[in-house]
Amino acid sequence: MGGLRQTATTLGAKLAIAPLAIALVVSVSQVVRAEDTRRTTEVRPDACPRSTFRVVVDVGHTVDVPGAMSARGIAEYAFNLQLARNINQGLLDAGFQQTVLLITATAPWRGLVERAARANSMHANLFIAIHHDSVPDNLKQNWEYAGLKNQFNDNYPGYAIFISNENTDPAGSLQFGSLLGRELESRGLHYTPHYTLALMGHRRRILVDAEAGVYRYDQLIVLRQTRMPAVLLEAGSIVNRQEELELGTPERRSLTSTAIVAAVENFCAARARPASAKAAASAH
Ligand SMILES: [Zn+2]
Repeated sequence: MGGLRQTATTLGAKLAIAPLAIALVVSVSQVVRAEDTRRTTEVRPDACPRSTFRVVVDVGHTVDVPGAMSARGIAEYAFNLQLARNINQGLLDAGFQQTVLLITATAPWRGLVERAARANSMHANLFIAIHHDSVPDNLKQNWEYAGLKNQFNDNYPGYAIFISNENTDPAGSLQFGSLLGRELESRGLHYTPHYTLALMGHRRRILVDAEAGVYRYDQLIVLRQTRMPAVLLEAGSIVNRQEELELGTPERRSLTSTAIVAAVENFCAARARPASAKAAASAH
C-alpha cells in the first residue's frame, strides 16, 4: 500500500512537471516569434515594397441597398464610405500609391461577386471590406429619435474582424486580421465577443484569434472569391447609441485608419521577407 502510494506520488510529480515544461516551450517560441516580427518591422522598414503593394479598400453595400440602419436612422453605407475614404487617404499618404477605393453600385448578390472579380483583375495584394455592425432584428429595442421611430441595441459595442477559410490564402487572411486586431486594441478599441453567443443563432461564429477579435465567416462572397488575403472589418456598432456617436467623429475614423495603415505596413513587410526567413518562421 505504502509502495503503491510512493509510486503514485512520483508519477504525480512527473505529470505535474510535464505541463510546466510544455508551457515554457510555448512561451519561448512566442517570444521568438514576437522578436521576429519586431526585427522585420524595425530593422528592415524598407522591406515592404509600398509603391507596388496594392490594397483594395471595399466600401460595404451600395447607395440603393445601404446595409444596416443606425440607432439614429443613418444608413451604414454613409459610415462605410466616410471611413473607407479616410483609410484610402491614409494608405496613399503612407506611400501605398496603388491603393484602390472600391465603390460598387450593383446590388447584391451580383455586386458582391463583382467586387471580388474587380479585386482579382487588379491583382490586389490585400482586400479589406469596410462595414459597420448591427444586431439581428430580434435583439433590437424601439425608441424615438428626433421624433422618428428607430431601433437600437446598447449591449455589444466594439469592432469585429472576419476571415474565410475558403479564401485562396486563409493563413495570410488570418495573419492580416490578427495584425489589424492588435493595432486596434493597442489604440484602446476593443472587439465585441458576442458573435460566439448562442443568441446569435445562424450568425454565430468561431473566434479564431481571441486576442485580436478575428472570427471565421467562410461563406462571405467577398472573402471566399477574392484570390488574395482578405478580411472584412466591422468597425463598430452603429445600433449602439453611444458607439454610433463615436463612429461619427473624425477622431474615431482616424484611430481606425491609422490602425489599418500600421497593420498593412506590418503585413506588407512580413510578406516581403526572404523565403528563408519565412521558412524559419513557419517552423516555430
Ligand atoms: Zn455591412
